Amino acid sequence: MWYEKLARPEIVSLKAYSSARSENQNMDLILLDANESFEPPYGDNKHFLNRYPEPQPEKLRRRLADIYGVDSSQVLLTRGMDEGIDIVIRSFCRPYQDSIGILPPTYSYYKVAADINGVATLDLTETQEGKVKLEKLEDPLCCKILFFCSPNNPTGSVMQLEEIKKICETVAQRSLVVIDEAYIEFADGPSASCLLKECPNLIVMRTLSKAYGLAGCRIGAVLADQGIIQLLRKVLPPYPISSPSAASALSALTSIGLFDVSRRIESIKIQREWLSKKLKQSPKIKQVYPSQGNFILFTCDDSQEIYRSLKSRGIVVRDRSGDVPNSLRVSVGSVLENQLLIRALGGPCELLEPKNRGAKKSRKTQETEILCEVSLDSQGNSEISTGLPFFDHMLEQLAVHGGFSLTVRAVGDVLVDSHHTVEDVAIVLGETLRESLGSKLGIRRYGFVLPMDESQSTISLDLGGRGAFVFECKFPGERIGDFPVEMISHFFSTLSAGLGAAIHIQTKGENAHHMAESIFKGFGRSLRQAVELIRQESLVLPSTKGVL
Ligand code: PMP
Repeated sequence: MWYEKLARPEIVSLKAYSSARSENQNMDLILLDANESFEPPYGDNKHFLNRYPEPQPEKLRRRLADIYGVDSSQVLLTRGMDEGIDIVIRSFCRPYQDSIGILPPTYSYYKVAADINGVATLDLTETQEGKVKLEKLEDPLCCKILFFCSPNNPTGSVMQLEEIKKICETVAQRSLVVIDEAYIEFADGPSASCLLKECPNLIVMRTLSKAYGLAGCRIGAVLADQGIIQLLRKVLPPYPISSPSAASALSALTSIGLFDVSRRIESIKIQREWLSKKLKQSPKIKQVYPSQGNFILFTCDDSQEIYRSLKSRGIVVRDRSGDVPNSLRVSVGSVLENQLLIRALGGPCELLEPKNRGAKKSRKTQETEILCEVSLDSQGNSEISTGLPFFDHMLEQLAVHGGFSLTVRAVGDVLVDSHHTVEDVAIVLGETLRESLGSKLGIRRYGFVLPMDESQSTISLDLGGRGAFVFECKFPGERIGDFPVEMISHFFSTLSAGLGAAIHIQTKGENAHHMAESIFKGFGRSLRQAVELIRQESLVLPSTKGVL
């Protein structure tokens, strides 16, 4: 194969380490092959910690292949992308003979990994915009591997797919083209993995460290032609991916987990634009680079001085002056962190918004998986999907009339019935609302409402910290559509326990749908009054005990 001519001959002929475990994954066999302990260690042994892990955990590999839109035979799992960078260099570059090419300023580990392996690093930058000049690549003695980073760390710029394709074609059969996509999830354009079929010398690298929030797991993925993956596999040590890491990563990549990631990415992108605008207005800053990552690079007159001044206020940023004179790179942080950064830089920033109470919680059992997010002080951003349309409608009413934004994603055993899903949503929603209230300083504490119609609900509420529930309501029938009416009282009694609230509900009426709706709306209204902040300057706790 063409890539075998490119690779180090000793790697091509290498007989890879093989373990009995790679041939026998079944933990129910009598495993006497690997000199492990037959007893689990003290402590948590959910992941068979006394046993070596699968060399390439198959479920995780398949899940990532699905997410990245490739075949699982095109995926190699590594300990973070950093290990992927190292093994590509180690497999293809002969020490003291071959070189890699990079476009500085870029991620500094390409050169470090090359240095460790005795491989030279060439600078391919020839144009002002930091683009590679294609003529330079036409030299047949050009580098074995070209490393590009898109979005680029630290500048945040992206490469277009046509540009990548052209480079791959120019160096076809002579060089590998690696596209580091550590930050691609934050970019507007697509991943270069869609070019893998037409560009056999392309390698795309991905990581779970950034957008997926799993830097501690150390999971990266090399995506490439199946033959290249098999060659690289030989260079990895026998069991690179630890079983707790693989299990944590898998549990974060469920459909609800991915939904959560996409929400997080959207809010980071909004914050990135806000931060960029504010940085541009700061008197100390000269140039702000447009970024497609979760970070922003800017230049100033004296980066050392700004670095020190930020540090004295407890804010740590990255000095990239070694690559771009007088430059600093900041990660996009939380709303509060970004505001504090702008204030510390002397930029214009409205007073910190005290009303940004919110929380997010998730819960997974054998019966349901729930994600719930509450933003108490913002309205109109509700996204509810529980698999129970009537219940979705009721939760929407609750949020709209409660005057807060609510996200509920639930995947439950609704084919059995609605019980577990309604109950578990109530548990998580109650806990999320409780956490959103934080210290409860300044809240009204009590809510009361009397909405009317042919149905009438009286709902009163005390957020005093103790769950209590009174329900006086007789529905005319047992179901509303498919939804059993008994689940309405069960929902509120479970919610009252999770929220730590006394909830009293009395409802009269003739039409069950109206009655249910008046309960959810009325509860929303009552909650809205109870959580409202009374005085913002000197927040007080509405309790003579001094604790709620
Ligand atoms: N590529 C780039 C551009 C990075 O910035 C980083 C980490 N900062 C990495 C790769 C390494 O990622 P990982 O955590 O997966 O090793």
